[in-house]
Amino acid sequence: MKAITVEPKKAGSARYEEFPEPDVREGSVLVEAVAVGVCGTDVEIVEGKYGWAPPGKTRLVLGHESLGRVIDPGPSSSLKKGDLVVGIVRRPDPIPCPNCAVGEWDMCTNGQYTERGIKEIHGYMSERWRIEPEYAIKVDPSLGLLGVLLEPMTVITKALEQVLLTGQRAYWEPKTVLVTGAGPIGLLAALRLKARNLDVHVLDRAETGPKPQIVHDLGATYHTGSVLDLGFNPDVIVECTGVGSVIADSIQQVDSGGIICLTGVGAGGASGRVVADMAAAVVLKNNVLVGSVNANKRHWYKAGQNLAHSDREWLRRLITRIEKPEDFQQALVREPDDIKVVIQFSDI
Ligand code: BGC
Repeated sequence: MKAITVEPKKAGSARYEEFPEPDVREGSVLVEAVAVGVCGTDVEIVEGKYGWAPPGKTRLVLGHESLGRVIDPGPSSSLKKGDLVVGIVRRPDPIPCPNCAVGEWDMCTNGQYTERGIKEIHGYMSERWRIEPEYAIKVDPSLGLLGVLLEPMTVITKALEQVLLTGQRAYWEPKTVLVTGAGPIGLLAALRLKARNLDVHVLDRAETGPKPQIVHDLGATYHTGSVLDLGFNPDVIVECTGVGSVIADSIQQVDSGGIICLTGVGAGGASGRVVADMAAAVVLKNNVLVGSVNANKRHWYKAGQNLAHSDREWLRRLITRIEKPEDFQQALVREPDDIKVVIQFSDI
């Protein structure tokens, strides 16, 4: 079969190549790939900045935002041939740490978790892949290709849960929320926050293209420029850029008792002075900076429900399709208007 593989930590090593069929030890369920989404993490892996091959191997099959069709469910009684499924990304560490032991692998404390297509286990950018039945999430078949948005939706489901839990530390009635970055994570965050009837604002650097209208059609307000020039102090900021200056400005701008949820991992080192000023702003306003990564089965379940009930036409506008996996390089060089690039492996 064919797969998109990479030698982690070696820039420019990605290839679409012949690769052995998935090992039965990767799971008893055999799946035919339909599509795989590409995100900033994949781009980082291809640029040689992140990623780990399976132990003893040099190459890793890329891809963690999957959508596939079950070809052979094996002994699983909950899945049947033809079901549309998405594979969970993270596997608990083998020790396990207390969090992994209770199924909260997204909160793994010893860092020995593994992740499909990212850390030590092959991903989903291959014509066929295998999965353990308990890590295969069935998606509403009427979602079709939109099922590929489930993984990013799980990331935001967990992040918003973290915000809500953090808010419970005191009397808290958030009204105004800012989302920084109108990429897929930011836009899905805005979608879910609007569903909670909040006053939602999205800030992005794009002044033209589809993003302003996509945000407007949600009933949210679109901004460009600096967070410091917004003219109001958000109760919550969901930070989806990972850009140092946007994070620093968010810390200054968030209201007292505010919460900033960091979801982006980006570049840009802040100097010691800037970090100290930021820390002072956090302390003096009782604010909380909460980082959030990955998602556990509770979030996968909730995200599946939320995705199935979202406006399909709006979701469709987030996706740019690359029709042939051999053209995968196009997915790595983003056009400014692209929100979620998806590589299609087979027809839906
Ligand atoms: C993925 C997460 C993963 C994280 C860190 C993200 O792009 O969506 O599932 O935990 O990268 O590797």
